[in-house]
Amino acid sequence: MESLIFDRMESYDYENLFFCQEKTLGLQAIIAIHNTTLGPAAGGIRMWPYESEAEAINDVLRLARGMTYKCAACGVSYGGGKCVIIGDPRRDKSEARLRSLARFIHRLNGLFITGVDVGTNLDDMVVMRQETPYVVTLPESWGGPGDSSRETAYGVVQGMRACLNETCGSPELSGRSIAVQGTGAVGRNAVRYLTEAGAQVTIADIDRERAARVAAEFHARVVGPEEIHRLPVDVYSPCALGGVLNDHTIPELRCKIVCGSANNQLAEARHGEMLQQRGILYAPDYIVSAGGLLAGLDSLNPGGFNKERAREKVAHLYGAMQNVITISKEQDIPTHRAADILAEQRIASVGQAKRLAITGHMHLL
Ligand code: NAD
Repeated sequence: MESLIFDRMESYDYENLFFCQEKTLGLQAIIAIHNTTLGPAAGGIRMWPYESEAEAINDVLRLARGMTYKCAACGVSYGGGKCVIIGDPRRDKSEARLRSLARFIHRLNGLFITGVDVGTNLDDMVVMRQETPYVVTLPESWGGPGDSSRETAYGVVQGMRACLNETCGSPELSGRSIAVQGTGAVGRNAVRYLTEAGAQVTIADIDRERAARVAAEFHARVVGPEEIHRLPVDVYSPCALGGVLNDHTIPELRCKIVCGSANNQLAEARHGEMLQQRGILYAPDYIVSAGGLLAGLDSLNPGGFNKERAREKVAHLYGAMQNVITISKEQDIPTHRAADILAEQRIASVGQAKRLAITGHMHLL
């Protein structure tokens, strides 16, 4: 039998693919659930003007699988999912479409827990919250964690500390030289934490005015965007775009560690091997950038979001990064592979534990 979708789903063993459409409102959205061994699927809502259905399906599947690995490696009891809305967020977003999608999400009855991603924002989540409690990234005024970039940056800094402990024998940031690429939401917060801790920070941004503002605010040094990855520093921290670790940049790196928030930093998986061969410790982006996700998920606790508890969870990214380093050394493999193994091992072992049936109706966290 010819199969367009089931073959694709079988390739990485996806559980569900839900298509949501509302003709009058023009809503077309897809929710993918990759793996729920560890718990309900968590993942944001991306709104993007996809050129075709196939492109939207590929994206939602790829992103949902990424969330499975992210949740598993970071030690939270959630699986991986994602939602994409087909449309241009500047033109096609409306209250009615968002509320309609929220009702579809509500029908899943907690199987899918969601929040912001590219093309959606906290205001959209407030709109959706009127239809479902399964939207967790809400503004502080709504009892949520607010802007996630603070916690994301805090998690990146914890990852850096674990890497410094490995390469320099101490997690101390004071006196360390750190080059931050991109001074947007995450980069600026990272610069704040790092300078407060006494690190010597150099920054770059293609928006030179923004770089100058952040430099003045936190007493950082500024260099041009083409120069930042080449600096002789302890840590190079990509907090702008993906694909920055590639054939062209890796030979030019003069850092000991790469640790930043930017998604998909390795242009291709083989670049993880190139970094290992060069003796540079790479902190897998999907682990050290999980702070915002961890803060969002904290909202699901009875009693809602708690800032201190969320911060403690984000601090555990130090331990997650240590686990990655341990696997990488034990098996002599690059850290991006070690992160995948950490995630896969946890899913396999928790899956094994869950084979046993339990009775009763106590609520599990
Ligand atoms: P942002 O748009 O606020 O900031 C990005 C900054 O990078 C901008 O100031 C931009 O001018 C700058 N920039 C773009 N290209 C550059 C280049 N070539 N050189 C130097 N600077 C450049 O985005 P953000 O929310 O800070 O996110 C940064 C990265 O971290 C993204 O890849 C994002 O996907 C990832 N991330 C963010 C979060 C979060 O909580 N915001 C969570 C996980 C991952």
